[in-house]
Amino acid sequence: MAEGESLIFMIGFVGIIVSIALSIALAYKAKTMQQLQSTAGGLKKSLDEMDEQAKLIVRTDIELNKTQEELDKKINSLYALQKLSRAISTTLQENRIFSMLNANDLEGLGFEKACGFLWSEKEKCFTLRFHINCTQEEIIAIQNHIASYKDWYMTLIEREKTVSSISLPDVSLNEKIKSIFKALHFIISPILTKELYKGFLAVATENADMSLNEGDEELITILANQIGQALENAHLFEKTWQAQQELEKKVEERTHELTLALDEVKKISKRKTDFISSVSHELRTPLTSIKGYAAILIAEKLGQLPEAVKERLEKINRHSDELVRMVNDLLDIARIESGRAAMKIEPQNLKDIVAAAADLILIQCKNKNISLVTDVQAGLAQVLADRSQIERVFINLLGNAVKFTPSAGKITLKAYARDNNVQVEVSDTGIGIPAESLPMIFDEFYRVDNSVNEQLKGTGLGLSLVKHIVEAHQGKIWTESHLGKGTKFTFTLPKA
Ligand code: ADP
Repeated sequence: MAEGESLIFMIGFVGIIVSIALSIALAYKAKTMQQLQSTAGGLKKSLDEMDEQAKLIVRTDIELNKTQEELDKKINSLYALQKLSRAISTTLQENRIFSMLNANDLEGLGFEKACGFLWSEKEKCFTLRFHINCTQEEIIAIQNHIASYKDWYMTLIEREKTVSSISLPDVSLNEKIKSIFKALHFIISPILTKELYKGFLAVATENADMSLNEGDEELITILANQIGQALENAHLFEKTWQAQQELEKKVEERTHELTLALDEVKKISKRKTDFISSVSHELRTPLTSIKGYAAILIAEKLGQLPEAVKERLEKINRHSDELVRMVNDLLDIARIESGRAAMKIEPQNLKDIVAAAADLILIQCKNKNISLVTDVQAGLAQVLADRSQIERVFINLLGNAVKFTPSAGKITLKAYARDNNVQVEVSDTGIGIPAESLPMIFDEFYRVDNSVNEQLKGTGLGLSLVKHIVEAHQGKIWTESHLGKGTKFTFTLPKA
């Protein structure tokens, strides 16, 4: 092959190689371009999406701000409502409730004008009870409007319905109310109580920025309800107060009557005591001489007497002794009742008094084969008492116990501390006292109708005297008894 041909071949070969390389390079570039274009498309989409999201964020932010504003308004309104509610609930005077509503708190609710009307059954119309920031001219216009729309307002109250400039569908009435209140927004809410009050609360504002909504209606409804509640509370208080006044008056009258009656009873009681006292005194003298003469005769100082006469004289003597005892008891009761009995109140050892009384009664117990048990608490405090008087209490109670206890019975005498007192019990296993007689047992001359009393004489004065003596010591006495089983007398004496 010629040199020239080989050169041409070489050049051709290189050309082919270069063209192939170029084609490859071009194809590669085209692919890269394609890739770049698709990347750019993706980027644009992302940018669009981001733009959308940014717009959404701005919108959300605006919404949030609005919600925040509304929330702030609501909180302010709730705060104002709370203040108003608290103010009206602090008074229990009907006429002061409305005066508790004030312009400041009303403004917190978003309104600057308000008025309240209550139905007057007497005048058969709604009467103005309060207003805030209404001119005289406005008040007259409002009153005239309410008078001519009386039925409409009544229906509103009966249906317990709150209406406002945004919810009242009657356009002409809506406009009328706005013009009467000289306001852009209004809310009217019924004031209700269970039975007594009917009325309504109206609030209004000229504020063009205010956007009235259902929430505002709810707040004013709550306020109207609170006013109703406060009115009811005031009415109930008034009623209770009046009832209390009447009751106090009645109590006063009754107390006065009772005081008069008590004075009368005291007078009668004093007359009775004086009478008993003087009669007893009068009886004592002849009784003493009867006894004296009987004694002289029995002693046969005036000559011997036939046995039958002596027997009769001894009877006279015994009966005279009984009469003297009775007269003495009566005199003692009269003296204690009138406070004339001289008491020598001193600290006393009950153990000694109990022992002495038991000693005195022991013989009688032995005669009837009755066992006597004494039980005085160890270390028992001293009592404040007149020794001789308290001895009479013991002797009377123990004497009765022996008298009304059949042989082989038992008498127990107990003394123990109880609070600030010392309590003494005298119990027996005797015939007992019927339940119906217990309330009268301490009455003067009262004796139970039983076989023992039929046989043995008694005056019915012993327990009365005992009660007087115990009470003169600031003590108390009571009895428990079971018929056929026994009786227990308990009395208290103050600790020294
Ligand atoms: P008297 O003993 O003189 O009848 P009292 O005033 O001492 O008067 O008692 C009044 C009545 O109370 C007695 O008649 C008796 O019926 C009843 N009574 C008092 N103590 C007892 C007793 N321990 N058991 C049963 N009845 C009693």
